[in-house]
Amino acid sequence: MDNHKLETEAIRTQLERTQFLEHTSPLYLTSSFVFVDAEDMRSSFAEEKQRNIYSRFSNPNNSEFVEKVCKMEGAEDGYAFATGMSAVYSTLAALLESGDHIVSAQSVFGSTHTLFTKYFPKWNITTSYFKVDELDTLESLITPNTKILYAESPTNPAVDILDLELLGNIAKKHNLVLVIDNCFATPYLQQPIKFGTDVVIHSATKLMDGQGRVLGGVAVGKASLIREIYLFSRNTGPALSPFNAWTLSKSLETLAVRVDRHCENALKVAEFLENHDKVNWVKYPFLKSHPQYEVAKRQMSQGGSIVAFEIKGGIESGRNFLNTIKMCSLSANLGDTRTIVTHPASTTHSKLSETDRLEVSITDGLVRISVGLENVEDIIKDLNQALKK
Ligand SMILES: *Cc1c(COP(=O)(O)O)cnc(C)c1O
Repeated sequence: MDNHKLETEAIRTQLERTQFLEHTSPLYLTSSFVFVDAEDMRSSFAEEKQRNIYSRFSNPNNSEFVEKVCKMEGAEDGYAFATGMSAVYSTLAALLESGDHIVSAQSVFGSTHTLFTKYFPKWNITTSYFKVDELDTLESLITPNTKILYAESPTNPAVDILDLELLGNIAKKHNLVLVIDNCFATPYLQQPIKFGTDVVIHSATKLMDGQGRVLGGVAVGKASLIREIYLFSRNTGPALSPFNAWTLSKSLETLAVRVDRHCENALKVAEFLENHDKVNWVKYPFLKSHPQYEVAKRQMSQGGSIVAFEIKGGIESGRNFLNTIKMCSLSANLGDTRTIVTHPASTTHSKLSETDRLEVSITDGLVRISVGLENVEDIIKDLNQALKK
């Protein structure tokens, strides 16, 4: 088939039609598949042919979802997971041995950080962290045991940007596997493989579904690495449910139009906040005031859906802001059709000391907005009335 543009692949990549000539792919809600005879069963298990055996290994709906993500990311192969965290865990557990070392950006998703600091040490896998604004210190952390270089860009919740090309070059020079969690950008805005990334991970729960319905995750990248990730996963069982895969395949068909509007609304919200007298500063990758604006412009086509800002008055102002919001949701999710506001210092990161919070750029007044698809005038009106109080 011809190579199409990303929006077209997201829609036209689909399963072969059955005898019913259905227009869109049907849902294969089946745990297993049958063999016609002993030879079919033998050759299938010997992997002499590609076919579905059991839905923990593969399922047509999962394959369709993975194929779409591969085409959108420019990846060779992939595997779909029940959640973003099972994608992160299984990818790393499949590729690492006891004694290996990870070099990771300091600000990564909370559960990823917990995995690195609390669980991997149980298997003698250690992690060193670099600050996202001190990439020049990164190489000094690399040891002979370092296997993985790990990062997210933009980061959560501070919306910092890491230079993916620089990370790609460092990984290549030191023979490391570069793993990028591309959840905040989506393949529509940023394709890390172009910059030398080996494995790209997504929480499909966020913008990929984008409608707050299902959990899901996916890892795509170099075929040889995905093979290891697949074998680990087929034996340990984090597979995505076919129903969620079917839902996510449909979601990807509208990813480009949804993300366009998310970005358009987010930029307007960022500009509104930048001019507000109750706001100290705003961070959005496509605002000229963003410290890594030039890098963002180089590697992203738009600024994404997340805006961070610091409200004047610290913790109390942050809490008051959440309490006076009327329309926007207070929720732990992001990348939804509904605008969501969070105040990390008093919620998700409240267990950290102020010093530890500052290490990951979370000041007491930091507010994170996941800008949704409501009319942007209504979003701004709600934020404005809450800031005034
Ligand atoms: C949400 C999220 C995850 C985890 O995904 P789940 O689907 O919730 O397991 C991982 N990385 C990032 C950047 C996320 O935002």
